[in-house]
Amino acid sequence: MTNTTMDDLISLCKRRGFIFPSSDIYGGLQGVYDFGPLGVELKNNLKSAWWRSTVYERDDVEGLDAAILTNPITLRHSGHETTFTDPLIDCRSCKTRHRADHLKTKKCPSCGSSDLTEARDFNLMFKTAVGPIDDGSSFAYLRPETAQAIFTNFKHVVDSTARRLPFGIAQMGKAFRNEITPRNFIFRVREFEQMELEFFVRPGQDEEWHQKWIDTRLAWWERQGVSRHNIELYNVPKEELAHYSKATVDLMYRFPHGLEELEGIANRTDFDLGSHTKAQSDFDIHSETIPNKDSNTKLAIQDIENDNRWIIPYVIEPSAGVERAILAILNEAYRVENLDDNKSRIVLALKPHLSPIKAAILPLKRNNEEIVRKALEIKRELQMLGIGRMLYEDTGNIGKGYRRHDEIGTPICITVDFETIDTDDTVTVRDRDSMAQRRMKTAELPDFLKDFYR
Ligand code: ATP
Repeated sequence: MTNTTMDDLISLCKRRGFIFPSSDIYGGLQGVYDFGPLGVELKNNLKSAWWRSTVYERDDVEGLDAAILTNPITLRHSGHETTFTDPLIDCRSCKTRHRADHLKTKKCPSCGSSDLTEARDFNLMFKTAVGPIDDGSSFAYLRPETAQAIFTNFKHVVDSTARRLPFGIAQMGKAFRNEITPRNFIFRVREFEQMELEFFVRPGQDEEWHQKWIDTRLAWWERQGVSRHNIELYNVPKEELAHYSKATVDLMYRFPHGLEELEGIANRTDFDLGSHTKAQSDFDIHSETIPNKDSNTKLAIQDIENDNRWIIPYVIEPSAGVERAILAILNEAYRVENLDDNKSRIVLALKPHLSPIKAAILPLKRNNEEIVRKALEIKRELQMLGIGRMLYEDTGNIGKGYRRHDEIGTPICITVDFETIDTDDTVTVRDRDSMAQRRMKTAELPDFLKDFYR
């Protein structure tokens, strides 16, 4: 086991092109990062793994891709305008700002002074002007979670798909939070992506489904290479619950900087569909008119097993952050291995479906026309398999090429040499984890790779 530090990961990410500080040439923008050539592949692979298991491999979930700009009325009825806040404290001595709930003592963590202001609530939502005149009257929020658009689209999805309970709506995409203290690399940032599922169930079946989703999500993390030993379940105590939640279980992961939330799995009850519909607690869901004066849409579903009576479903929400997932996955995969000859290598032992490059095709000699042509031909053919990115790379030094691909997690390297051209049309296939090499006919490569990535 390697004791990986955050610096190891930050350095690898920058050196190899996974993640860069955003606007870096101008000094960066705090709490904002960009994904580089390898980062974008890893992120896309991770998101498709989530989408595959959450939507395609089930028969009870639909997808959605809603807008980021959000009508303020949505976030008023959801409760975010009044309650989506963190307690902010200023240090009068060194002028730094801190989250009051993150302070361990009543002293400033930057300078040690006790001269701190009282905590005041700071709303985390970003606003932006809509339309050409920025006079404050016409604005939208950048969504602070993807969930709300799932609720506001509830009726559209039910009407267009004829879904019955239980069923879910899944969405992945950007969310924005004006965090008081973004920190720990991509762990706490101001612009990030979420992978969220809102799974609607009959009231009374919510607790059973809550547990099912906790189990389902734990199994998913394991398939992404996040070991169960590094995850602890945290039953959020009543006084810490978000305004919409009846019960929340956080999956806490042992990040390099400590044990912190990777994913939250909440029982949001009928809070959201209810508050977009009724805006008061004694509302009769069976009445024709609804008292939410801003909307005339009833976000409820008719129960065909019970006289078509209206139900506001309860909802279970597994909500994971893409950046935190990537940090956990890199942390699990990163290792330094000692080799026989007093040397060592860095290996990113990513699960193959997550690896940015699926196979690297290396010509032994970059100035041999025939070898280069053959290597390019193999690359093009393998690219057509639809498995993911294949990389042709003619740096000319095979040993260094192998090391580089170990470090970025490429599971397979394929080397084209003189034997390929002159003798038997075979190539060397090298395995990242065992470093074992074997000869294989080029004609066998497509089936070998399809099998490997199945
Ligand atoms: P925290 O307590 O760490 O601020 P949270 O409880 O506010 O997180 P949720 O509202 O439950 O987070 O959001 C669901 C998921 O979105 C989190 O589990 C996390 O993976 C991700 N997430 C939330 N805020 C951030 C952030 N600022 N940067 C990166 N990911 C985030």
